[in-house]
Amino acid sequence: MVSERILSHLSRLPHLPPPVLTAYLDVNPASPRNQGQRGYVTWLVSTGRALGKQMSARDRKLFRTQLERVENYLRTARPRARGLAVFAGPDIWQTIPLQVDVTEELHWGKPSLEQMLWVLDEHQPRGVVVIEGTKARFFILWLGTISEDAGAAFEVDIAPGRKRKLVGSPRPGVFGQVGVARDFAKDHLMAQRSHFARELAQRIASWSEANAISPIALVGAGDVGDMVLDAMPAHLRKQVMLIRKALPKVTPAEVQAALGPALRTWERNYEESVVRDLIAAQDSGVAVLGWDRVLTALQDGHVRELVVARGMSGSLRQCARCGRADRSADPVCVLCGGERRLRTVRTLLPELVSLHGASVEIVAGKAAKDLRAVGGIGAWLRSDKPSHRSITHASPSISGPSSATSTRERQGRKNVSPASNLSHAG
Ligand SMILES: [Zn+2]
Repeated sequence: MVSERILSHLSRLPHLPPPVLTAYLDVNPASPRNQGQRGYVTWLVSTGRALGKQMSARDRKLFRTQLERVENYLRTARPRARGLAVFAGPDIWQTIPLQVDVTEELHWGKPSLEQMLWVLDEHQPRGVVVIEGTKARFFILWLGTISEDAGAAFEVDIAPGRKRKLVGSPRPGVFGQVGVARDFAKDHLMAQRSHFARELAQRIASWSEANAISPIALVGAGDVGDMVLDAMPAHLRKQVMLIRKALPKVTPAEVQAALGPALRTWERNYEESVVRDLIAAQDSGVAVLGWDRVLTALQDGHVRELVVARGMSGSLRQCARCGRADRSADPVCVLCGGERRLRTVRTLLPELVSLHGASVEIVAGKAAKDLRAVGGIGAWLRSDKPSHRSITHASPSISGPSSATSTRERQGRKNVSPASNLSHAG
């Protein structure tokens, strides 16, 4: 799930005055083309030259200024990543290294965010919490990397035991445990364990929420994991996979190797259950299915979370004046009479999601297939009263200068179909 928080880092981008240069580059040092020389610089220069030829003289001048900025950066910096996203314009300079493969793309106009959204969602942060005695360590797997979140590390203070019973002893100050005192000690241990479980459950809940981490593998020997799980609220428990094993003094790399595949399998199962629940809930007023109902609910501020099948393509029309978007082919907005322009779903959806404070869950595999059978998109509605946002605040910036994109190769799910209908592939 892409959280509102993560999107908020990117949400500034759609609102910047265009034109902005967006570049997605394959900077992977393992790529044959990048060995010995920086093949991505060559690609940028030649693609930029071709793209510039399609522009007006005024645009071309602005474009070349930004292109040179990016080129100069790439000639000196050595991004330690597989992919790199760059956003360059008069008011912005942002580079985002990615530990995943990207489809190379050079775009001029509005910032091109579709790959970012997809990269973020398909590589949502997953968590691992390893319990070791009275401690717990927290790890985040994200964008192909794993790191330990040392700031979240958890340890319960073991309070000093009850005052122990003085056993008859000739020497004052010598204490021992017998009879009733031993029972006290046992009770005390139980109390400590349940205290630990409650505290850790709370810590995991706030950690998961603050970092939009899901799912989470909870690892611990014996029944301590079960106790933590029992202390969690139900919605969180659904996102936690319990692994009953000890991983003492484990390194981040060992965590990834030991648990990465299990988390992925678990996530696929989880996605299937999300789609199943969504379909089951469609008539109960808490969920809607299909593009028309989802777009209406989203733009009216009713959507809490979108569920989208991976491989979405196609386009919609959006009013250049009030921002309202729907599937109708009408070139004029029925609300305000504004001109309606064609937008690709993959660029429009991230903007609408960000604008209306929703989150997105992109599902793959069988879950995607099941969702496609009912329209390819669904949404969980907010249970609270919707926050009414005036539609006049909706993204009006689509009337910027001309937009141009060049892509080395668009294939599979990265394909943006020129068709005017919405479809799902892959
Ligand atoms: Zn309008």
